[in-house]
Amino acid sequence: MGLHKLSSPALAQTGKLGITEQMEASLYIHIPFCARKCAYCDFYSRAVEQSAPEIDRYLAWLYEEIVRQLEGFHITRVPTVYIGGGSPSFIGARRLEALFKFLAAVLPGKPDEMTIEVNPESVDDDLLAACAAGGIQRLSAGIQTFNGASRAALGRPGGASELHARLRPLAAGGFDISFDLMTALPYQNDAVLAADIESALIYHPVHISLYDLCVEAGTPLADPSYQHRDALHSPEDAASLWIKGRDMLEKAGYHQYEVSNFALPGKESRHNTRYWRMYNWLGVGTTASGTLIDDNTGSGVRYADGAEEMLSRTTLIQETLMMGFRTLEGPDAELFMQRFQTDITDVIPQTLAAWRKQGLLSATKTALTRNGLLVLNKFLADCFTELDASLMLQ
Ligand code: SF4
Repeated sequence: MGLHKLSSPALAQTGKLGITEQMEASLYIHIPFCARKCAYCDFYSRAVEQSAPEIDRYLAWLYEEIVRQLEGFHITRVPTVYIGGGSPSFIGARRLEALFKFLAAVLPGKPDEMTIEVNPESVDDDLLAACAAGGIQRLSAGIQTFNGASRAALGRPGGASELHARLRPLAAGGFDISFDLMTALPYQNDAVLAADIESALIYHPVHISLYDLCVEAGTPLADPSYQHRDALHSPEDAASLWIKGRDMLEKAGYHQYEVSNFALPGKESRHNTRYWRMYNWLGVGTTASGTLIDDNTGSGVRYADGAEEMLSRTTLIQETLMMGFRTLEGPDAELFMQRFQTDITDVIPQTLAAWRKQGLLSATKTALTRNGLLVLNKFLADCFTELDASLMLQ
């Protein structure tokens, strides 16, 4: 089904879903501003001056939108809040302080987890103080790499010494720290990757996301004239670097719990886990989308950028598989049964049996193994083929 224009009455779609009385939903807030664009970035973000009035206009709109969604969807609990970007830290301590005060005033109670993405180059003492006072527990810092040559090839300023100078106060602030690191970067080899991971571990992050660099169409990296083109890795080398990174993190005590995410025990991202389990969330901001599902009928609504889409039971089953199998726990089997009135193992029995036989599906739960996750897309293709065939028979 296509997207329709979202008008105020569209919020009443929740009525059709039978979820008008009380609802719990996480909240994602998108701050789409950055100091400059990185060469690989295909996220929606705009490079502006920090003093640009458009940031303030955007925040004013954001405030209205947060209230509109909380009230319109009758949200009575917000278990997690995630402020992502762009670079939320780029807008500065003063604006963030105001955002946190606003959230404290309008949210129904205190969230269990509040996370903000920060760019180390825009972190200073005022910003850390604002985060602490604003109830932020997790800081997710985009490091990508400490290596100067790789950073330059990504269009990221500074080298290891500048990063360390920014990270020391960040790590001493009493927050749970999460780092984003990347593999398959130009000029990265095994030794550079090992040094990146060792440098990150100095700060005792509780969580690390390890992303394989993707060359996305339309980004400078995909341009034939990209200056560092020869330093990009073949898909085989890229896969091997990521696996080496994974093994180093696991050796250091971080367990993989999702395709790209590793954590110390108990320090997994609750907010992201809620997406992967397909729990309800509100999305506020440019390109942010929200999804609300009626647990009793297995249908839902997704809204984004002023438009909305009703999600059918079939679409939601597909999405539940797609999101759930990203994690080493697999989809939430109990919720699957409640929403869709069928057991997950009855929906894709052949795929599960075949993948278990190959040792790529856990013997004890409905979830891929670590090696199974490396070929997640192939697994999902098998799931959807089986699902389509069984739906045609109905
Ligand atoms: S900081 Fe993040 S959002 Fe901003 S341009 Fe770089 S990758 Fe994109």
